[in-house]
Amino acid sequence: MIVVMRMGSPMSSVESVVKRIADLGGQAHVSHGTERTIIGVIGDQRTLNPQTLEVLADVEKVVPILHRFKLTSRDFRPERTVISIGDVAIGGDEVVIMAGPCAVESEEQLWETAQAVKKAGAKILRGGAFKPRTSPYSFQGLGFEGLRLLREVADELGMLVVTEVVSPEMVPLVAEYADILQVGTRNMSNHSLLRMVGQTQHPVLLKRGMMATIEEFLMAAEYILTYDNYQVMLCERGIRTFETFTRNTLDISAIPALHELSHLPVIVDPSHSTGKAFLVEYASRAAIAAGADGLIVEVHPHPEEALSDGVQSLRPEKFAAMMADLKRVAMAVGRVL
Ligand code: PEP
Ligand code: MN
Repeated sequence: MIVVMRMGSPMSSVESVVKRIADLGGQAHVSHGTERTIIGVIGDQRTLNPQTLEVLADVEKVVPILHRFKLTSRDFRPERTVISIGDVAIGGDEVVIMAGPCAVESEEQLWETAQAVKKAGAKILRGGAFKPRTSPYSFQGLGFEGLRLLREVADELGMLVVTEVVSPEMVPLVAEYADILQVGTRNMSNHSLLRMVGQTQHPVLLKRGMMATIEEFLMAAEYILTYDNYQVMLCERGIRTFETFTRNTLDISAIPALHELSHLPVIVDPSHSTGKAFLVEYASRAAIAAGADGLIVEVHPHPEEALSDGVQSLRPEKFAAMMADLKRVAMAVGRVL
């Protein structure tokens, strides 16, 4: 349930409610909105009944949250969350573009790609250092060297870094080098990893499990938010359907659905959702038109030589042309790119 405080309630009243919740064995999560303060209550509903909280000073009302996800829901935080990292704001008016290779392969490959995507308007450099591959015989990534290269190149160009972390033990190391921790589709339900990234207080890009429902996706985000880490971006990256022409099926309706249910920003991955380079620009246009707050796109200077996901990677020239086109789509729906 949530406790809605009266407009202009003093901090002392908010603190009293938080203390009462703790005394009753519950957990209080406070959200200060522009108009009023809302307190999310997690705990045993038998001891924490609404009447015990309703009587406290400056409490306007106590209402149940009907969804299974609580802190992630819009009931708890009616205003959209904007995640600010350096001078980049994700979830505001701007559509933020993350781009780079599927995997960091070498210093030259990363430099060439990063310079090109930065010039075309990308603010965040993507690239896998630890790759979760379907086959143990496929390229697994450069590991630590990949992390080091991402940081070095991004710093030189004034970009942020997003990269995947595949296991809980690696979280502190990856958090040292990356601005945003990516949790991949295969790990969306890895609860020990979710708890660990929650504890870092680092921004997180959480990808939707390829077979997860929207509710399961939001429940995964909930694991991170329970550690009071609200800097979570939800990434729609396609789900498995009976269709085999595309690698996955991009669930366009998930974008407005997630915005309706949750206050968290929504990012779309047009590369893994389609699996084909020629489809990336169409999926990107559709995503922005449907309200996506950002895109994460794979770009490679020589896709035919890529060690992973070459078929879905855009050449830098194609990426630049797509960006020019997407600016117009963003403008048409009241956003900037
Ligand atoms: C990636 O973005 O590098 C990746 C592996 O994506 P996903 O987890 O969506 O397959
Ligand atoms: Mn990839």
